Amino acid sequence: MINVVVCGAAGRMGQRIITMIHEEHDLKLVGAVEGQGHLLVGTRVSPEVKITDNLEQVVGGAEVIVDFTSPKASLGFLAVLAKIKKPLIIGTTGFTDEEIKNIKFITQNFPCLLAANMSIGVNLMFRLAREVAQILGDSYDVEIVEAHHNRKKDAPSGTALALANEIASALNRNIKENLVYGRKGNVGERLPKEIGIHAVRGGDIVGDHTVIFAGRGERLELTHRASSRDTFARGVVRAIRFMAKAKAGFYDMQDILGLK
Ligand code: NAD
Repeated sequence: MINVVVCGAAGRMGQRIITMIHEEHDLKLVGAVEGQGHLLVGTRVSPEVKITDNLEQVVGGAEVIVDFTSPKASLGFLAVLAKIKKPLIIGTTGFTDEEIKNIKFITQNFPCLLAANMSIGVNLMFRLAREVAQILGDSYDVEIVEAHHNRKKDAPSGTALALANEIASALNRNIKENLVYGRKGNVGERLPKEIGIHAVRGGDIVGDHTVIFAGRGERLELTHRASSRDTFARGVVRAIRFMAKAKAGFYDMQDILGLK
């Protein structure tokens, strides 16, 4: 049995992850954490577990901690876990490059997984996008379009940025110099090495990502559409089993899914 604490327990992802933990015979929820002042603090998510606003109260009984909150909250949890050296799975998105660098540095001393997208399909898409970019090379223009629900706070999505990173590294391009966020006004002709990213927000879209490779007389599109948050929650369940036995270090979903 693997004992798990979920941070962001009342959120869209937190709720799905908790439901899935209850369904798995080898996982047990031992703690649920929410932000201070949240209306559901003190309420039960199972007969044994009440939502708390203090990770340190419940972390003692945990073997793996799962975090789907906000960058600010996640960095707070990271500091707690770096001290007690228990495995942390961060699904939160919206970190700055500097924050990601710091996370990678701190996690040399305890097991930590950071993944902007836990779905199997998207992680396969990372690999396919890299391979397509390598095969097509510089003569195809790359644009990424993502769509999410109207409550999403960060833009573009962490997944779109991760796709851009894969493609930029496959094409030996400097990501900072070549990323273009949307276009407006008289911006001039597209530069050949640009990687465009466009964010659509609306309704209850769970998460769509398309990479367009546009050449002369043709274009190739890779599309992934998440139709339910269960795809991310299933990835989290796989990650929990992996991280419960992981050594200190930094991991991503490619490690968990054996895609490296
Ligand atoms: P949400 O807003 O529904 O849930 C976030 C929850 O975190 C809220 O209930 C909020 O009260 C709680 N929270 C905020 N501060 C907290 C704190 N200090 N301590 C404990 N809880 C705190 O959002 P969501 O749709 O569940 O997404 C959460 C994060 O996960 C976002 O960054 C989102 O982009 C990301 N996400 C990642 C994946 C993935 O596969 N990695 C998939 C979906 C969403």
